[in-house]
Amino acid sequence: MGLLESVRSEIVSGYGSEYYGPDRQRFLTVKPLTQPYGHPRRSAFRQPIFEAQLREGLARYPHVETRFQCKAEGFEEFPDRVHIGLRQADGGTDRVEADFMIGCDGSWSIDARKPRI
Ligand SMILES: Cc1cc2nc3c(=O)[nH]c(=O)nc-3n(C[C@H](O)[C@H](O)[C@H](O)COP(=O)(O)OP(=O)(O)OC[C@H]3O[C@@H](n4cnc5c(N)ncnc54)[C@H](O)[C@@H]3O)c2cc1C
Repeated sequence: MGLLESVRSEIVSGYGSEYYGPDRQRFLTVKPLTQPYGHPRRSAFRQPIFEAQLREGLARYPHVETRFQCKAEGFEEFPDRVHIGLRQADGGTDRVEADFMIGCDGSWSIDARKPRI
């Protein structure tokens, strides 16, 4: 995404952890050493800083519009496009039309088998 330098300046890269029980005995050491994707497997970040870096990264693209306080309630697929129904925080609705939709709405994802608007 072209954000490596920005992100790397704020993370603890490639850190390890040791876990101790009530008996003060170490029961687990986690220290990944491999870099299968060219970067440490495990790095710590502060979420508000990371999210700001992502938002600044998006701001590089004038055609990207970011909406918060806005819920995708359903969608309808067509051969060449998708319609997405949105509910805004004030209760109002809106509809977005796009060539494709990427679902990244976590474990409570709207059911892709029952598309609806
Ligand atoms: C307490 C805790 C600690 C964790 N610690 C770690 C850790 O140290 N390291 C690690 O790698 N993982 C950790 N995880 C797991 C990690 O948080 C998840 O695996 C990861 O966040 C999943 O990412 P995601 O993008 O799939 O979903 P999410 O992070 O859940 O993102 C989904 C987003 O979609 C939004 N959304 C949902 N439905 C809609 C809708 N209808 N319309 C619009 N927006 C919608 C949600 O508001 C949310 O912002 C932790 C999880 C928890 C709960």
